[in-house]
Order: sequence, then C-alpha cells, then structure tokens
Amino acid sequence: MTIATYHCPACGHSYAADRPLWRCDCGGHFNLAPGRGLRRDDIASPEASLWRYAAALALLRPPRVSLGEGWTPLVLRDWQGAQIHFKLESQMPTGSFKDRGTAVMINHLLEVGVGPIHEDSSGNAGASIATYAAAVGLPCRVYVPAAAPRAKLVQIAVSGADVRPIPGTRQDVTEAALGATGESFYASHNWQPFFIEGTKTLAFELWEQLGFRVPDNILVPTGYGSNILGLERGFDELEKGAEIAARPRLFAVQAANCAAFAAAWAVGTETFVPFAARPTVADGIATPKPVRVAEVLAALRRSQGAVVAVPEEEIAPAVAALGRLGLFVEPSAATAGAALTRLLSDGTITPDQTTVAVLTGSGLKAADRIATLLGILGGK
Ligand SMILES: [Zn+2]
Repeated sequence: MTIATYHCPACGHSYAADRPLWRCDCGGHFNLAPGRGLRRDDIASPEASLWRYAAALALLRPPRVSLGEGWTPLVLRDWQGAQIHFKLESQMPTGSFKDRGTAVMINHLLEVGVGPIHEDSSGNAGASIATYAAAVGLPCRVYVPAAAPRAKLVQIAVSGADVRPIPGTRQDVTEAALGATGESFYASHNWQPFFIEGTKTLAFELWEQLGFRVPDNILVPTGYGSNILGLERGFDELEKGAEIAARPRLFAVQAANCAAFAAAWAVGTETFVPFAARPTVADGIATPKPVRVAEVLAALRRSQGAVVAVPEEEIAPAVAALGRLGLFVEPSAATAGAALTRLLSDGTITPDQTTVAVLTGSGLKAADRIATLLGILGGK
C-alpha cells in the first residue's frame, strides 16, 4: 500500500499523508483521495471485524490496535408493517458507531508517529478515542460539553483520559479544543479524514450482509455526517471494484431542534446557512457547525436521498418503540426510527423496498435520560 494523499477542497493543495495533520495550511479541511476499490475476493472472511476489509483501507500496515470493531449485527424487525434491517452499530466495543472511524484513524496516526492527542466530542467519539488511546498507550485529553450524559463522561474518565468539561454550546467545546492545538495533536474525528476512511466499512458490511446487494434506502442519524460520507466513499469503492451497479438512497436524519443540514437543504444551497439551534435530547447529533457541509449535501443529492428533520416530540416514542423490538438505543440513534415512521407514512419509502436504519449508539450511554424522557422508574 502506498501513502495516501490529502486534498484540500478550499485551496486545491495536496499533501502526502505521511505525518500527523488535521487540516490544510489554508485552514480548510482535508479529504482523502479516492481509494483503490473493493472486490469480493479482497475480503478476509475469517476476520469478524472491519479488518476483513483491510485490503481496501488506506493504511500501510496491519493495525497496531483493534478492539474487535465492526461486523456488527444486521437484524430484521417489523416497523409499521414494513420489514426493516436495523444495523446495530450500538454493539461496537465502546457502544457507538464511532469505533469504526476511530480504529482506522488511530492506526493511521500511529503509522505516522503521532504523540499525545486531544479531541472534542459530544461524548461518544470522545469515549471511543479515549478508549483506543488507552488501548495503545497514547496520552489523551477530551473536551466535552459539561451537560453531556454522565455515562459518556464516566466512560472517557475510566479510560484514563483527561476529561475537560466545557460549559456552553457544542461549538464552545470545539473552540476549546482548537485552542489547545499547540499542546498536543488535535485528533479530531470531525476534521481528520481517516475517520471517514473507517466509516466507509459500513457500506461494505451492509452490502456483504445483504448477500452482496445494496439496499434501496439507508437512514442515518446525522450530526457532522461522517456516516453519510463513509457510505458514499464505500459505495464509490464497490462501484470501482465493479461489484455494484445501483446506489442506495441516503437519508440524513437530524433532530429538528439542531439541524444544520436540514437548514441548508431547505433553501437548496451547498453551503452552511445560519440557523437557530435549540436544545435537543438527541445530544449526539446536535451539531451547530458541521465541517464538510458541501460534501454531505452532495452525497445526499447524488444518492437521490434527503434530509429528514425529526421534531423533538417524536424522539421519545421512537426510543420506546425500538426498545419494544429489543433495540435499546440512545435518543440520537432513535431519531432513525422516528424518520422511518415519517418516510413510510408519506410513501417516500415503501414496504417492498430494502431499507436499513443505522442505530448509532447504545441506550446504556444515556439510561438516566431515557428514564426521564419516558417517565419510567421515577425518571424526572
Ligand atoms: Zn487548503
């Protein structure tokens, strides 16, 4: 495998990915050059993790650290009379989909000699990165919202990372992390494109688990959009490998109270538009300022999908309905269920189609909040 190339869409510069970098000298974000593609024969079938697709990952060597991430279950459940495939990313090592991106990003950074790292996160990515850093002995500091669910903060602290709770908005947390870039490497899952290199394996898995077929629709709870971009990159590579002829429609699901992509989608623009962010129980996808706005919107348009903004009052019923199907997920993940109800009701999705709903995070991440939300076990 040769060294991957970073490309900056803002100024057009390219860089070899041979040292720890998180953005361009011009301040723009990096994207990775297109990958080599994946063919069925490339799959290391005995490997029950995302490393079964190692042949298609832009890494130089086998991973130095893995906790068995990936190859999560895809289970069929009835949702309003339709048979829906639920992808249980909640069953990752740290309980959220983030491990897919983290594992690949951390292994890349290790290959190019990274030292101490820091990160900002609403909670799940922080827990994921802190856990992988601990597993390989990298010092790690994580900036989180002071109001993040306690279980997520505990998870980060238990790994031995330095937890820095920041009062204010999610953007205030990011600003704190940006301010620390001189002290350690900013291993931001939202900026560093090797995170998306990891999330692309979601596309490979869905294709393989559906019998080497693509679904018609994929619904993804979306904050920064790393799963949407990973799916787009993964399906690009399957196309390149001549393994697929059709592409699924991608639906980015947001909490209406904090929906940057929905705001841009509604006015038909390719760039960020200011919007009023209000609090939401879906803390994991409450992203006031995504990094790759144009890329995410382009991926949705190209797939002929859409953005679905879920009103706050529809999230708790979705948590409960999923729970009764044996799917215990955090409110951010349950937005996929609420969106499914909407898209089935208005006919955008029909029961004869193959539809996947990605459940991004475990209910154990926010059990106290779920008790409050559903008014159960004295939750208030
Ligand atoms: Zn640039």
